[in-house]
Amino acid sequence: MKRQIAVSAVAALALAACDTPGTPDSPDDTPPPVDDTDDPPPADDDPPPLEDALVDENGQIFSYHPPGELIPGSAPPTILVDTTVYDSAITFPAEGPVYLNSQVYMSGGSQAALNAKGPNQCDPENYSYPWRDNFCEKRGRDQYFCAQGGHTGVDIRPATCAKETHWALAPEAGEIYDIGTYGVRLMADDGTWYQFLHLQMDDLAVVEGQEVVAGQRIGKFSNVFFDSNGNPVPTTIHLHLDMKESYAPTNGDPPFIDRVNPYMTLVKAYERKLAGE
Ligand SMILES: [Zn+2]
Repeated sequence: MKRQIAVSAVAALALAACDTPGTPDSPDDTPPPVDDTDDPPPADDDPPPLEDALVDENGQIFSYHPPGELIPGSAPPTILVDTTVYDSAITFPAEGPVYLNSQVYMSGGSQAALNAKGPNQCDPENYSYPWRDNFCEKRGRDQYFCAQGGHTGVDIRPATCAKETHWALAPEAGEIYDIGTYGVRLMADDGTWYQFLHLQMDDLAVVEGQEVVAGQRIGKFSNVFFDSNGNPVPTTIHLHLDMKESYAPTNGDPPFIDRVNPYMTLVKAYERKLAGE
């Protein structure tokens, strides 16, 4: 069995909020155009790494595909795989079991047919393990890890296919410094920046400027989204979570602070939660 080892060697540096306050932007959640020239990578027959049988509240055993193993056909031509665990002490940012997988290439997504998936976002496969990384999935925004345009965060489905039911939580203590039309931004006390998108915005548990503690309720998973003209267009029921941290490339590129892949940080936080730590 192939097993990837997560690397956790990057110290968190204080970082400034470098986005303009206001409406959290998210071209990253815009479904990408159909790309017929993309050849899906060969199927990976290796089973996902099984940890020591961590079981969720429904009795299901948690498992996950390694970081960088995106669903076939969803990755831009080149991605740099980010295996970093940026913080080993965050609270998992949601209550209940959750399912981290693609909103675009799984059932109910705009590219579902590419992998012979159907039109129903409530398909049980969407609400099952293993998790699958969707950072860098083909989107409109260029960034360091996926320069040809990739998803800037990860998408997480709540415990059930129901909106306005399941709570997203603050991963760390900090300040809710910006609330936009479909997102909430948290600046953690240690400098980590988080963005929560698609929450039920008329039923948030926080207000702008509020100090929160780790584990405090922020808002409920929903499907709130707007098109480029500002018209409401519901997305699938999920939380899009962005995280900005310091990153030290090993290829000679200079260190930077920007959006990084939260995947392994979330895997480890979820394992701690299931282990009751
Ligand atoms: Zn997303």
